[in-house]
Amino acid sequence: MVDLNKIAKKWQSKWEKAKIFEADSARGKKKFFVTFPYPYINLYPHIGHFYSIMRTEAFIRYKRMQGFNALFPQAWHCTGSPMTNAALRIKEGEQRQVKTMKDMGFKDEEIKKFEDEKYWIKVFSKGWEEDLRKVGLAIDWRRNFITTSLNPHYDKFVQWQFRILKQKGLVEKGKHPVIWCTKCNSPVGDHSRIEGEGETPQEYTLIKFKFDDSYIVAASLRPETVFGQTNMWIDPNVEYVKARINDKETWIMSKECANKLALQDKKVEIVGKIKGRDMIGKYCRAPGVDKDIIILPSSFCDPKVGSGLVTSVPSDAPDDWIGLYDLQRSKEECEKYGLNWEKIKAIKVIPIIKTKEFGDKAAVKICEDINIKNQHEREKLEKARKIVYKAGYHTGIMNENCREYKGMKVEEAKEKIKKLLLKTGQADVMYEPTAKVVCRCLTESVVKIVSDQWFIKYGDKEWKKIAHKCLDQMNLYPENVRTQFNYVIDWLNDWACTREFGLGTRLPWDEQWVIESLSDSTIYMAYYTIAHKIKEIPIDKIDDRFFDYVLLGKGDKKKIPVNSKTLDSLRAEFEYWYPMDFRNSGKDLIQNHLTFSIFIHTAVFPKKHWPRSFGCNGWVTINGKKMSKSLGNVIPLREMVKQYSADGSRITILYGGEGLDDANWDSELARSMKTKVEQLLMFCKKNYNNGVEEKRAIDDWMESKLNEIVKQTTEAMEITMFRSAIQIGYFDLQRALKWYLRRAIKPNKKLMNKIIETQILLLTPFTPFVCEEAWEMIGEKQFISNAEWPKPDLKKIKPEVTIAEDIVRETIDDINSVLRLTKIDKPSKIMLFVAEPWKYELYKVLGRELGKSYDFKVLMSKAMKNDKIKKYGQDASKIIQKVIKSGKGVSDVLDYKLEQKVLVESKKFFEREFGCKVEIEEADKSKEPKAKQALPGKPAILVEK
Ligand SMILES: [Zn+2]
Repeated sequence: MVDLNKIAKKWQSKWEKAKIFEADSARGKKKFFVTFPYPYINLYPHIGHFYSIMRTEAFIRYKRMQGFNALFPQAWHCTGSPMTNAALRIKEGEQRQVKTMKDMGFKDEEIKKFEDEKYWIKVFSKGWEEDLRKVGLAIDWRRNFITTSLNPHYDKFVQWQFRILKQKGLVEKGKHPVIWCTKCNSPVGDHSRIEGEGETPQEYTLIKFKFDDSYIVAASLRPETVFGQTNMWIDPNVEYVKARINDKETWIMSKECANKLALQDKKVEIVGKIKGRDMIGKYCRAPGVDKDIIILPSSFCDPKVGSGLVTSVPSDAPDDWIGLYDLQRSKEECEKYGLNWEKIKAIKVIPIIKTKEFGDKAAVKICEDINIKNQHEREKLEKARKIVYKAGYHTGIMNENCREYKGMKVEEAKEKIKKLLLKTGQADVMYEPTAKVVCRCLTESVVKIVSDQWFIKYGDKEWKKIAHKCLDQMNLYPENVRTQFNYVIDWLNDWACTREFGLGTRLPWDEQWVIESLSDSTIYMAYYTIAHKIKEIPIDKIDDRFFDYVLLGKGDKKKIPVNSKTLDSLRAEFEYWYPMDFRNSGKDLIQNHLTFSIFIHTAVFPKKHWPRSFGCNGWVTINGKKMSKSLGNVIPLREMVKQYSADGSRITILYGGEGLDDANWDSELARSMKTKVEQLLMFCKKNYNNGVEEKRAIDDWMESKLNEIVKQTTEAMEITMFRSAIQIGYFDLQRALKWYLRRAIKPNKKLMNKIIETQILLLTPFTPFVCEEAWEMIGEKQFISNAEWPKPDLKKIKPEVTIAEDIVRETIDDINSVLRLTKIDKPSKIMLFVAEPWKYELYKVLGRELGKSYDFKVLMSKAMKNDKIKKYGQDASKIIQKVIKSGKGVSDVLDYKLEQKVLVESKKFFEREFGCKVEIEEADKSKEPKAKQALPGKPAILVEK
């Protein structure tokens, strides 16, 4: 029995001894440099990491076999809150975190040690390296490093980078809204979120409604709808607060809103309270329309959202319409709150916006369209709100009753009305996240306006132009992510790049700040080129001049306190390896990490050192289900390898998907792949150097197929379509081989050896351990990891040979169907009739003309121009009609003589397959009526009992 784990261990140790993945610059030799984003090492690698990193791995192994000097380094990310927060959660004894640690196999005594964030780094950097080595990744481990001030060399590199950005005016102190955690007292970057990645601050218009000596405030994304206001919504059960704002006015809002405003550049002082119930039935003055509107009860005013009060525009907001409709239908509900039912019923929807889809009462129409019964159908209402908002925004036109805005596009009126309301003091501004965001410390995030923060100016228009230029010259895999990259470049805003605490690099000119994790990870790929050598240089000798010289070729070497030879060798390393050729990550990093990398590269490096390509992949699903902690289906890599072997896991995950589609991990498939990997070894053993010397027609076919497979597999590998590569290079090849052995009985020895060699070469990027073993078994002395990727011999790809073999295979299938239909188990004789020569002529005509026309008359007249067909007009017309009806056209056919030859040569094979005599006849010389049914590529079949 094959022991895959033993084999993996053997080759892992051989590779390590031979240092085959340690890549050094070699001037004149073509190179390929790939990276996978350095992971946070606050847990062991799992299947999600594994998929993205395997795409990097398969690509670099392929490039290595293509003759490139291949570099795949890997570092660890320790910056920022993920580890600090996790350590804090351990200290606080937070149960979920403790359970996570237990699940990873840590004992109680050890878990305590994780209160220190440095202990995380110690444990998991070791764990990651072990796991990645075990699974066979072709990594140059000499270049491994960690981030933060715990690695002073890297620390200086990040500081150097930030000084450059500062000099160029690309880092500035500014006042900006950011997503904020009140517990951590810090901005919440994408990587610090457990929910809401990619969400950003969104500006609301906070409309003010005069109410006694105060103002009720209500947040709106649609200030243009002020003309349609009919009432104010309030939650009767909520206690609202009265707050002095900037010592000037008193506003009424939810307590949560007051807390948020205090973070948004406002002085907020709570001066009183007021119950929602106590305001019902009273009136407030609506700005924009200058009329009094009544305050009514509803169930959908969430005190956590906006101000906790909502201005009601039933014409265009489905919630408002259905809320009003609910009240108008219930006398009881009105009386409960002391409202005059007749008065409520008299409130009319005011149409203000016209759209093509929904007319002028969009909210009313959509509630009818999707059958919303009452205000408690939250999901449907949310959907309706989005649809109406989109339609109104893009195609809406303001109605006659909208004063000077009548006839104006909503898109345009919105900005104008907002401006006017702000200018006249009838509104203010408030920010909310675009959707729920939860910090890793489990606190729901809010928006804070920070003013002493440092920002990287991704919002800069000129910089965006250069970033686009960089993107334009890059290859993207798959190409269709380009739209998203373009969108992100345009949409990105200034980015808060510092935090007040956590591990990291201090901002060099303002050391109270620590650079956050998405900002110290933008150009570190450049650091890989020298990471193994810079370690040797004493830290006090390294300053900006060092990096200027080594990474930019700038400055006077003599002024740098490092010896000149060392400097030159480091410079040479960088110039050899840079730019980076390929970086792969999950698609979730497009919106930040990958795009940041483009921006910063263009700011720091000359054009020739901008990144060459990015690859992006989808999520991983497990047995068809979303991967999630709560489902408990996140498989740690170490478990996978134990259960399915390294090779089995590698090929299964890459066969799970490609492009942006989610990759599915199928445990059943993994089990069967493991078996297949084992069988491969036995198959090679049994068949290598086994076979006959003579060469037959079927050998030509196999050779043609083999070369075609090599060609197609290579094409798929080139564009990182690894699933296709496995499909063609493994499954299709195995199927072809099976057919070949059935046909040939004994394979041609030379060809068989070639097939075996090719098969293991094509599999090496996916299952390197077993391929090394097989390679050694067939007598090769070098590592297959370093062997040359097979090249297709295009001259040996012969389409007519493939067609010929297809005819044989399909004829076998057809004979089997006939036997089933006629219920004959053991035929005494089978006759095959080759179609009449004129039919081949007809097929040629149809092959040429179909597609240009499917008209019977046209096709018939074309066919009748051919003298050889003309005589058989009636039969020809039947065939043409049949072909048109099938809708499939005609398949490629051989010519008459060749098809006949193929069938005659395969006579013995047919006889062997069916255990009876087989005769091949020409249809036009036969008296059998059946013979007339023969078509090109489809001989007629007669079976005798
Ligand atoms: Zn937090």
